[in-house]
This record gives sequence, structure tokens and C-alpha cells, in this order.
Amino acid sequence: MTRTDTEVDLLIVGAGPVGLYAAYYAGFRGLSVAVVDSLPELGGQITAMYPEKDILDVAGFPVVKGKDLVEGLVTQAATARPTYLLSRTAQTLISEAEELRVGLDDGTTVHARSVIITAGIGKFTPRPLPAAQDWPGPEVAFFVPSFAEYAGKDVVIVGGGDSAFDWALALEPVAASVTLVHRRDAFRAHQATVDKVLGGTASVLTNSHVTRLVGGSGLESVEVENVKTHETTSVKAQAVVAALGFVADLGPIQQWGLEVVKRHIVVDSATRTNVPRVFAAGDITEYPGKVRLIAVGFGEAATAVNNAAVAINPAAHLFPGHSSEG
Ligand SMILES: Cc1cc2nc3c(=O)[nH]c(=O)nc-3n(C[C@H](O)[C@H](O)[C@H](O)COP(=O)(O)OP(=O)(O)OC[C@H]3O[C@@H](n4cnc5c(N)ncnc54)[C@H](O)[C@@H]3O)c2cc1C
Repeated sequence: MTRTDTEVDLLIVGAGPVGLYAAYYAGFRGLSVAVVDSLPELGGQITAMYPEKDILDVAGFPVVKGKDLVEGLVTQAATARPTYLLSRTAQTLISEAEELRVGLDDGTTVHARSVIITAGIGKFTPRPLPAAQDWPGPEVAFFVPSFAEYAGKDVVIVGGGDSAFDWALALEPVAASVTLVHRRDAFRAHQATVDKVLGGTASVLTNSHVTRLVGGSGLESVEVENVKTHETTSVKAQAVVAALGFVADLGPIQQWGLEVVKRHIVVDSATRTNVPRVFAAGDITEYPGKVRLIAVGFGEAATAVNNAAVAINPAAHLFPGHSSEG
């Protein structure tokens, strides 16, 4: 083991809601735990794609904003004192008698006695905005973790899906102006949100795409071309949000010798994969009747950690006891 390697009872691959809850649960079971994620922030899909959206179907929370749910999960997980290995991708898995070794893309290795894969839809990267490929400045963002930095700015949002419309709606009261640019004249976003945006102050340019970013020391405007008439308009902008979706890729996990069906890992009712001491929970799992929801993932996380605890120490009880009896 090198000095920068990590040694824990349990490694969790993926710091989305399910991985964070599994981290809490590892602490509840007295296991040392590390959580690796290729993104720089905790919270998986919620943080990356809908931090400001209201979630209505998490048990016990009639309405909870995405980022508030993540904050609660992080606070709860802190009781387990997890080691977070962020901006690092889990690349390789080697299974030996008493140890699993997971190689990260920074060259270090995590030595663990059990691994739970909560990698969701895989490592996801934003679809690029071709016109911004060579733009050197920080004015182009692919998601909006906080609205404050857009205060008083002219913002161009590119896209026609939920994220584009949610952000248009949310930035409207904060920004100086919001212009939404979409290549088609039909939208994939929820109709109620589309109606709110169309009824508000945002300008919506359909059948249009951004062809160029213009500026000197900072972004000043973007050029927008109508794909039907080929007319070009200049739109004042100090910020661009490219909400063109993400490309999800299971990537290296597919080479780990796991049974994978349509980019999902097959697990049994104990969340066991076909590799001993490797479990999976959350969106990444596949079994008959699987439903991909946060609430379901939380249950799977508890099952996975309790089974991992027994895999690590066969004398341990599967049932953890009730947290309220502590
Ligand atoms: C717009 C939108 C709205 C939604 N609304 C709801 C809702 O209202 N209710 C609901 O229940 N669900 C909702 N969902 C679905 C919900 O977000 C997912 O079910 C949930 O995020 C799954 O959690 P997870 O922890 O399994 O995976 P994810 O949230 O996908 O997290 C997985 C993490 O693993 C990381 N990762 C992947 N591969 C690697 C690797 N090799 N190395 C390191 N890290 C890796 C990824 O970077 C990611 O951070 C919504 C989804 C979207 C996109």
C-alpha cells in the first residue's frame, strides 16, 4: 500500500443520494467508509441536474428541494466520518481472498473488505455546446448549482428540456434578462413549466441555435441563428447555461466482471452482485420489478450495507437493530 492509498472496511462507488445514505448506514454498522465520485460535488444526479427542483416523493418530506435533500444526506452521513474521494473515477476492481482493490484514475488504490456500487446512471458528462468549444472563459456553465452568481446578468440558456426551463424560471427573478434558445419549436420539458416560462418575461427563441460567443475580456453577447430563415440575431449575454443534457456512461465498471444487463448491474434480493463482497444499490441495479426512484434506492442502500457488514464479519447480525434504540 502506498502512502496515498486508502484502507477502509467499505468503499462506496458513487456519491449520489443512495451512496450518501449508504455512507450513513456504514457508520451505523460501525464500518469505516470511503465514498468515491467522479464529480467534484456530492449528490449525484440531484446536484448535477435538479438542485432547485422540488421533490415530492421522498418519505417523510412532503416537499423537499433537491439541494436540501442532499444537504440532509451529507449531514446524516457525516456521523460515519466518511472519507470522500471526489473528482476521482473508480477504474478497476481486483478481488482477492480478503480484500477488494479498487484503482482510481488518480493512480491511487482503495483497499476495502466490501464494495457497494451506487454509480447511478454511470459517470456523466454534459453534452457540449459546439459554439462554446473554444471559448476560454468561465461564463459557460453546464448546470446551475446556485442562482446568486447570475444576479443582474443577461443569461442565455440553451436547451428545450426540464433543466433548461427550470433554470429559465428560477433565474427570471434574479437575472437582468433570460433568453432561452432551442433548436426546435417543440419542447421536452414539463408543459406546466413551459407555460410559466412562456407567460413570463424570458425571451424564447425557437428553431434557433447559438453559433458564436462574442466578447473581449469577458462574454458580451452570443450570436443566435434561426435554422429556418438563417437570420442571425445578437443577444446580450454575460452568462450562458448549456442545458443540453448529459451523456451517461457506465464506463470502466463494465470491465469489473459483473453481470450487466442494459447498463445495469444485476443483483439478488440481498443486493449481492455476482462478485463476492460486491453489492450494488440505487439506479444502477437491475432485478425483476426494479423501480428507479430515490425512495427505492434508500431501502436498497440499507439492505446492501447490512449484507456487506455480514460479508465482512460473518459473526455479525444481518438485522442492525433499530437506530432509535441507540
Ligand atoms: C430531472 C430529474 C428529476 C428527478 N426527479 C425525481 C423525483 O422527483 N423523485 C425520485 O425519486 N427520483 C427523481 N429522479 C431520479 C433520481 O435522481 C435518481 O433515482 C437518483 O439520483 C439515483 O440515485 P443514485 O445515488 O442511485 O445515483 P446518482 O444520483 O446517479 O449518483 C451516482 C453517482 O455515481 C458517480 N459515478 C458513476 N460512475 C462512477 C465511477 N466509475 N467512479 C466514481 N463515481 C462514479 C456519478 O458521478 C454520480 O455522482 C430525477 C432525475 C432527474 C434527472
